[in-house]
Amino acid sequence: KLVSKKWKAKPTSIDLGDNIFIKDGEMAVITGPCSIESEEQIRAVVAHCVENDIKMMRGGVFKPRSSPYAFRGLGLEGLKLWYQIASEAGIKIVTEVMQTSQIEEMYPYVDVYQVGARNSQNFNLLDELGKVDKAVMIKRGISGTIEELLQSAEYVFSGGNEKLILCERGIRTYERASRNTLDLNAIPILKAKSHLPVIVDPSHGIGIRAYVPQMALAGVMSGADGIIYESHETPEKAYSDGQQTLDFAQSARLAAWIRESFAMR
Ligand code: PEP
Ligand code: MN
Repeated sequence: KLVSKKWKAKPTSIDLGDNIFIKDGEMAVITGPCSIESEEQIRAVVAHCVENDIKMMRGGVFKPRSSPYAFRGLGLEGLKLWYQIASEAGIKIVTEVMQTSQIEEMYPYVDVYQVGARNSQNFNLLDELGKVDKAVMIKRGISGTIEELLQSAEYVFSGGNEKLILCERGIRTYERASRNTLDLNAIPILKAKSHLPVIVDPSHGIGIRAYVPQMALAGVMSGADGIIYESHETPEKAYSDGQQTLDFAQSARLAAWIRESFAMR
């Protein structure tokens, strides 16, 4: 496989511009709300990122929701507004693309296209992202194996797009005490098998706010190249995933702990 270390030994470095990288040997910190909700909310999170030297912000404008009646995102207009505010502050945007028709319209306003867990094996979407000259982060499928994640990455890479990031976000197991089971085993295995950077998402991985920090730090120690977690000014009022979202004080502490842990790794 082209994503395998046997094909390419040197770790792949994702250059997002302005000296911002996702790569082996650095620790990317990516935070933001589950959903982009309003201009006021965008401004609050951007300010939080700036204050804490966080260069990459996450957020969904097209949301895959288990219920069709739940909030499904602000769409392209929300993304444009977000881009305007974030780019002025020098912050890069990580956001989910749900279908092929969105790739082109989103293109000017994204830095990393996120492929969500539910779309991890949407092979048409992966084929089209293979033709794009912009970074793609693929999340592991809801019940996806490590091998399936690598095969999904192979679709994009073999299509010609080598700016790829892998993301462990927990898998569905028989365990119901947590939302998902964050598979930390996957980190050293993915790092050994592939030259691509690996990011951990402890928010979706455990799904319980109080335990997100320790799972984030466990992710750092497992060898990840970055952590992506959800934050919001008032998590209890978030439109989605509030139960696993940190407030800004918790997020500021976690960002510092991630960096300290990485420095000790
Ligand atoms: C998200 O990042 O908010 C999200 C929907 O993640 P996942 O696809 O991993 O469930
Ligand atoms: Mn979410």
